[in-house]
Amino acid sequence: MNILFATTEAAPFCKTGGLGDVCGALPIELEKLGDRPVVIMPAFRQALESGQPIESTGVRFEAPIGRKLVAGELLRSTLPGSGVPVYLIKQDEYFDRTELYGEHGADYGDNCERFVFFARAVLESIRALDLEVDVLHCHDWQAGLLPVYLKTIYADRTRYRDIATLYTIHNLAYQGSFWHWDMELTGVGWEYFTPQHMEFYGRLNFMKSALMFADVLTTVSPRYAMEIQSQPASCGLEGVLRHRSDQLFGVLNGVDYTVWNPETDPHIAANYGPENFQHGKAVCKAALQRELGLPERSGIPLIATVGRLAEQKGFDLIAEVLPRWAQQIDVQWVLLGTGEQRYHELLARLQAEFPERVAVRLGFSNELAHRIEAGADLFLMPSRYEPCGLNQLYSLKYGAVPVVRETGGLADTITNCTDATLAGGTANGFSFGDPNAHALSDAIDRGCRAYQDQGLWDNLVRTGMQQDWSWGRSARRYDELYRLAISQVREPATMG
Ligand code: ADP
Repeated sequence: MNILFATTEAAPFCKTGGLGDVCGALPIELEKLGDRPVVIMPAFRQALESGQPIESTGVRFEAPIGRKLVAGELLRSTLPGSGVPVYLIKQDEYFDRTELYGEHGADYGDNCERFVFFARAVLESIRALDLEVDVLHCHDWQAGLLPVYLKTIYADRTRYRDIATLYTIHNLAYQGSFWHWDMELTGVGWEYFTPQHMEFYGRLNFMKSALMFADVLTTVSPRYAMEIQSQPASCGLEGVLRHRSDQLFGVLNGVDYTVWNPETDPHIAANYGPENFQHGKAVCKAALQRELGLPERSGIPLIATVGRLAEQKGFDLIAEVLPRWAQQIDVQWVLLGTGEQRYHELLARLQAEFPERVAVRLGFSNELAHRIEAGADLFLMPSRYEPCGLNQLYSLKYGAVPVVRETGGLADTITNCTDATLAGGTANGFSFGDPNAHALSDAIDRGCRAYQDQGLWDNLVRTGMQQDWSWGRSARRYDELYRLAISQVREPATMG
């Protein structure tokens, strides 16, 4: 099958979160299965400066945006280590900016126009590059208009008629919601500005549009697929999702073990695997402590987290728990992230107050994220909701035992340590249910106590390190769902 990935992120070109990891890895797995995947994405400044070899194709096109025609140009590269072509849509006015979606906590004011252009540009590129496409795999709200265009403006055009769409929700909380007059930018008729199509409470909503128009819907874990059919995880879209529940599937993300593997990772102080992690992790922990200015101590747990500093990630819970722990309990904390200002301030303050126990890095550093996974004993993810979560999977592989809230993909992948799960050999972390500071503190406490019991600890670490969360199984599931999407477009009569 010819699968075209329409995405705004794909590692290593550009990435702000899990979306980038998925779109950098899944196409490569599909290629191994015999599919012909192609990735198309904006030529954001980050992608152009990523160090990847990018060449011109000489192919240009124009896309209608409201009443104007906007020109774009296509660049070409490949996903490293594969033959998967990556086309980058160059349009500097829209994409040559400091950030991808917004700055200083505010979205760019012209995001609707930027991503209307992106959707139009993808469709124009199919023609300009003469691409064969069986399935257009669209990701998150930024690609939300593509299923709409294929079923409206492009529906009667021969080249596009048979293209099926699979739409993946990576995070339902970011929907691309704009004032209604932006309908004019899309070129889609006002007859589609209704609750059955593109409208959500008086506004144009890209995510909802995709949920109404795509042939097949997926999200990134089975648990999240269930959770989003009711409040509060649905962010108001539960009605739409229940309406489409027959076509909604949860497919767990995988890990790219060519990038996230302590046995081969070039960023860490010592390589190690499930058979020799005690020594390797001790070296990595000491190196991390030195790098971050913490006292080099091997006998106390090092608790870490990496991620967006947002309420979604449970940083409000961490903010409640951390000051008391830092004051009273002899453990070390390492936090890497960027996001809401209030957390930046709190963390900076705690680091200044407890320099022996708290090390904070406010920013985005892929390499430091690797070193933290290798050096940490416990890895915190107290998310309020978590579509899939990748860091807990990286943590398992690196022997940093996850402490998570039981939600979404975290619930699907982390088995709480109890006598029964230990005896059954499935325990790989610590989890808690209620999203409150007390429950989080209790889970961290259980983790720290387990850390003191060498036999139990080694058992937990080894179980996690030996588990296989690679992409193979998920890629095969996507392959089946692509076929389902195609059958819905080409044999609609048989689908009832
Ligand atoms: P989300 O997509 O909701 O942000 P995921 O857990 O699915 O969360 O994926 C987050 C990805 O982004 C992981 O690869 C993680 O290591 C990375 N990441 C997030 N914040 C940072 C940061 N400040 N520095 C380095 N990597 C980060």
